[in-house]
Amino acid sequence: MRKADVIIVGGGAIGLMCAWMLARRGVRILVIDSGGPAATHAAAGMLSPSFERSLHGGGDALGEFSRASLSLWREIAPALEEASGVDIDYDESGVLCVALDDLEASVFDADSRYCDRLERNEVLELEPALSSSVRCAWFARTDAQVDPRRVREALKRAIARESGAVKFDSRVVSIETHGARAGRVRLASGESLEAGRIVLATGARIDGLAELPAGAVFPVKGEALAVERIASAPRRVVRTGGAYLCPKSDGRIIIGATELNRDRSLNTDDRRLRELRAAAEIAFPGLEDAAETERWAGLRPATADGAPIIGPAPSAPGLIYALGHYRNGVLLAPASAAAIADLIASGRAGPEIAAFSAARFTELGDS
Ligand SMILES: Cc1cc2nc3c(=O)[nH]c(=O)nc-3n(C[C@H](O)[C@H](O)[C@H](O)COP(=O)(O)OP(=O)(O)OC[C@H]3O[C@@H](n4cnc5c(N)ncnc54)[C@H](O)[C@@H]3O)c2cc1C
Repeated sequence: MRKADVIIVGGGAIGLMCAWMLARRGVRILVIDSGGPAATHAAAGMLSPSFERSLHGGGDALGEFSRASLSLWREIAPALEEASGVDIDYDESGVLCVALDDLEASVFDADSRYCDRLERNEVLELEPALSSSVRCAWFARTDAQVDPRRVREALKRAIARESGAVKFDSRVVSIETHGARAGRVRLASGESLEAGRIVLATGARIDGLAELPAGAVFPVKGEALAVERIASAPRRVVRTGGAYLCPKSDGRIIIGATELNRDRSLNTDDRRLRELRAAAEIAFPGLEDAAETERWAGLRPATADGAPIIGPAPSAPGLIYALGHYRNGVLLAPASAAAIADLIASGRAGPEIAAFSAARFTELGDS
């Protein structure tokens, strides 16, 4: 195998998008993934900054970053499909957030720069299978969705076509860094590999590989299920107070998702999934007849302040973090990867990621 300029540890949406963007710029990359569970495999694939409280809780910088990433997806989706030959199910039909009763309608708000308020009849025109109890909705016309499993497959193929190397059977157990440019990763097999830079994109598991205080990155488990797409199903992504529904072109409707703080298990709970499905059926009563086809759980990589960690490790700039994308890693993958590719090319972190520096956690104690 050729020696890589950059080793990327972790082959989820973030690591693979970084790898593809670097490989397209002629950088020799090696992706190392343990083959373990990836949040990306569990994600619903909404590219939807408009109704994500978690993005706005992370401050203006994160709101702007997520908008920039949504714009990048518009260019990247066709380019990735072309480069890989894989249809990633990119769907620009917008995202509808509905109020199903008077109480929801009374507290219902969204940013009118990006969303249009629709009254009941307009909502039912867009989504005829919605419950007739719907009061109103906000419609984010430019929000979108992809199929994250297909995105991952497409990225692997596109990377291979750029002569990038991907190892999906190797766990990294330690990282040594030597100042700004060189580093070495050790694999569980005992093998050790060197590169000019190392990007850490291991999702919710950092396993001592990052020089971050305990508690800076932690898992928030999410459970979801899929039902078969029947005639009275949503046409586009629909969000309600209790669930979201994402219709995919392969015939699945993904219904998500629970949130369990610091739960590292990957089992699913019958009662919680029943509640999720019930919330979806309140919005789309016809779904009562739809057979469940799959259920799963994944670990969202959360951070103590809700914003991702993107940029060099403060004491070892040859190690670059791409961590903590929490509920929106699929949405944020293009902007994060572009920022990291620029950082590696120029040696400087751009202003768009200044707010996401790891330095903000240096004062954080164990929690
Ligand atoms: C139920 C659910 C629904 C979601 N819906 C959405 C959504 O609609 N839109 C959205 O944008 N986001 C969504 N998310 C969030 C999104 O899934 C994550 O933010 C994103 O996938 C994080 O990507 P990542 O590459 O950082 O991590 P991951 O996808 O977890 O990838 C990390 C990879 O690193 C590997 N790894 C870990 N440790 C090592 C090691 N030591 N050595 C080698 N490899 C290692 C893992 O096996 C894994 O393959 C959802 C998440 C969940 C759970």
